[in-house]
Amino acid sequence: MKNFNPADNIQDLQYFGEFGGVNPSISDSSTYTFLSAKTMFDTFEGNMEGCYLYSRHSSPSNLYLDKALAAMEGTQSANVSASGMGAITPTLLQLCGTGDHIVSSRTIYGGTYAFLKNFAPRLGITTAFVDITKLDVVENAITSNTKVLYCETVSNPLLEVADIEGLSKIAKRHNLTLVVDNTFSPLSVSPAKLGADIVIHSLTKYINGSSDTVGGVTCASTEFINSLKNVNSGASMLLGPTMDSIRSASVMKNLRTLHIRMKQHSHNAMYLAERFEKDGLITVYPGLESHPSHKIYKTMINPEYGFGGMMTLDVGTLAKANALMELMQSKNLGYLAVSLGFYKTLFSAPGTSTSSEIPMEEQIEMGLTDGLIRFSIGLDNDIERTYQMMKACMIELNILAS
Ligand code: PLP
Repeated sequence: MKNFNPADNIQDLQYFGEFGGVNPSISDSSTYTFLSAKTMFDTFEGNMEGCYLYSRHSSPSNLYLDKALAAMEGTQSANVSASGMGAITPTLLQLCGTGDHIVSSRTIYGGTYAFLKNFAPRLGITTAFVDITKLDVVENAITSNTKVLYCETVSNPLLEVADIEGLSKIAKRHNLTLVVDNTFSPLSVSPAKLGADIVIHSLTKYINGSSDTVGGVTCASTEFINSLKNVNSGASMLLGPTMDSIRSASVMKNLRTLHIRMKQHSHNAMYLAERFEKDGLITVYPGLESHPSHKIYKTMINPEYGFGGMMTLDVGTLAKANALMELMQSKNLGYLAVSLGFYKTLFSAPGTSTSSEIPMEEQIEMGLTDGLIRFSIGLDNDIERTYQMMKACMIELNILAS
């Protein structure tokens, strides 16, 4: 992976506004004029580079963000969408039709799980959910109808790590498309460089980072992105989860500071994970040597961006988890809220929130316990001060001894 630095690749892209503005002008139009009818026809047919037809297909503002995210992931192209789910569902529907099969990690975002488990079967697409950390189990689940291998780099909410190089070898052997959701680890991991065919993000999280919008992106080959946007058969074009130009311009501006934010999120999460593990709490963080995939994750990351900002603590019971989250919120240590990647720490109990779509018996099987709290660690300036304040809350609730 030498000479590939995702943040440098973003920095090298320069866009100017119409009047020399330092930010590109926002395209405030849903439709575009043509000087000749022939050019309009050719654009419809997909034969005219640089011409815009209609903003559900593409807009100049969305193309700027597409290019920056493709540069970040090291793919030929990208297509932004109105939400992370608006990237995931058209991508899978473009790859699979009736009779096709997907092998997916069982520890994925609850919405993706619900789509694969409850919705895709209505279209004749079935999924085997497997333990993605066991490559032999993954390979054994492949059938003659399997088209896609699906996983998250670092899974939601259990922070399991997918061995993307190992999965890519399996995908190549069986002629499958490896689709990786990299939402938890932008910049830290570059899945396409490790062999993923398609990389997806919910931009709602770290990449935008200000919890003011939802958004998504699919990063892939130009051929695949063109197929998603094809006016006759493209799932993105026809299902219509288009990002608005004003939003893509604002995500683009936030993307400019992603490298600084990721370093601070990772620094703070590492600090807290080390402290709480030493205090005797069950702490899951891929930067800890006790994490089952620590060794492999260390070889996968672009080290300067660290192990990411997501951490889990198991405080024993749901009642304790709820009491702790309410107390921490009252002390202004963060917010009891789903989502991640905000400047402020966010915490939630995944079993009753973001993963509640997953049936209880399956939650138990995958190790999603009642007392688990998922933290998206914020950009706090003095993390020792935060640690002391969090510890005081835990002592008050008898989660830690004084
Ligand atoms: N992928 C992951 C890993 C997520 O955590 C989420 C949302 O929480 C999504 C995808 C869906 O993204 P969105 O909410 O932007 O549709």
